Amino acid sequence: EVAYFGAGPAPLPTPVIEASARAFVNFEDTGLSLAEISHRSPTANKILADAKQALTTLYDIPDDYDIFFMQAGGTGEFSAACQNLVGCWIEQRRRKAVADLGEGKDDEVLARVKKEIENELKVDYLVTGSWSLKASQEATRLLGAKYVNVALDARKSDGNNKFGKIPAETDWKLTPKGSALTYMCDNETVDGVEFPSFPKSLEENDRIVVADMSSNFMSKKLDVSKYGVIFGGAQKNLGITGITVVIIRKSLLGLVPPPTFLHQLSDVLPTSGALPPIMFSFSTIAANNSLYNTLPVFNLYVATLVLQSLVTKFKTVSGQEEVADQKAKLIYDTLDSYPDLYHVVPDKNVRSRMNICVRIIAGKSEGKVTPDDAKEKTFLAGAEKRNLLGLKGHRSVGGIRISNYNAVPVENVQKLVEWLNEFAKSG
Ligand code: PLP
Repeated sequence: EVAYFGAGPAPLPTPVIEASARAFVNFEDTGLSLAEISHRSPTANKILADAKQALTTLYDIPDDYDIFFMQAGGTGEFSAACQNLVGCWIEQRRRKAVADLGEGKDDEVLARVKKEIENELKVDYLVTGSWSLKASQEATRLLGAKYVNVALDARKSDGNNKFGKIPAETDWKLTPKGSALTYMCDNETVDGVEFPSFPKSLEENDRIVVADMSSNFMSKKLDVSKYGVIFGGAQKNLGITGITVVIIRKSLLGLVPPPTFLHQLSDVLPTSGALPPIMFSFSTIAANNSLYNTLPVFNLYVATLVLQSLVTKFKTVSGQEEVADQKAKLIYDTLDSYPDLYHVVPDKNVRSRMNICVRIIAGKSEGKVTPDDAKEKTFLAGAEKRNLLGLKGHRSVGGIRISNYNAVPVENVQKLVEWLNEFAKSG
């Protein structure tokens, strides 16, 4: 009996693994593996419809939102979100210029949009951990630093230049008049930092909020209407690698600048900043119901089974939220009861319920902790002996990381808590 706490790929519910294995061998007695069936077949269409239905039920997704699936992973979405939404921003400006100046005034339209890009275009990034940092770096690579506003770099509020805090919103430097997008990573998998609620300041100025929810997808209630785009790779709470879910406000679709117009902007903005590869185009994927190119139907099926099992068990995501909160509380309460041994890295108010980052320490002085690498190794070796696996922290930050995803059963959390207690008592 292995209890696995890896950060992703992550555990799946056992019934889902079993049903997926059956579908891989012989899908619903068709004599075919699901992996052999066309993505354009009625079977694939039903799986797609079932996935969307379950998502809509669980998150109560409003009618003015669309759902589609891509193969880009979280990393692909860093680029796709930026390119698509900068494209939207430009197309809105281009259409307004055409409406104001009249048809046939191509040179004037072009000159006006170029000026607006140079003077007004910004994308805002809230950098609260390693993944939002990577997303902001990708925006800089695509657009150039001039257009990227890092509205918050949470490392700057820490004496050691490390992630682990989310400073007060009054300290954020959001572009005052709004921007093409405002990016946040709702749960930072590497650093164990999660936004405790939707930031108030993002509700102003018609901000188009893009949220990476790869590692806390389906773990809490959401007001979807506050977001422009929500995305998440499947391999934590949703299923297996290879599929990425995107939930998008419909008004952001269809605003695609003509490529010939974008090509003429290259002296003010790299063309690639607003022209995604076609399989990264949100409008194209949505218009084709996720079937513009070959969708990995088997991977989608696994996600559909996960979603349907949540609907059966809880009806809405609130039930899963309660379970996630209880499991996280069990772990944090145990860690907090040995403050001279276990040091939870992030501040209490931004602790992730999904990825619990902790150092085993030799001591503390004036608020600074000294990690004890040898003790951490002993802890991990003891955990492995007890079949508690996947607990090593990310290579960039070290320490211990306990990933508490939806499919980690409470019994496994209890086993881990027993080991945390035993280790602390053994001195
Ligand atoms: N965003 C978050 C929050 C993640 O945890 C990860 C991966 O762990 C990614 C993005 C990148 O995902 P992928 O490897 O699917 O590109």
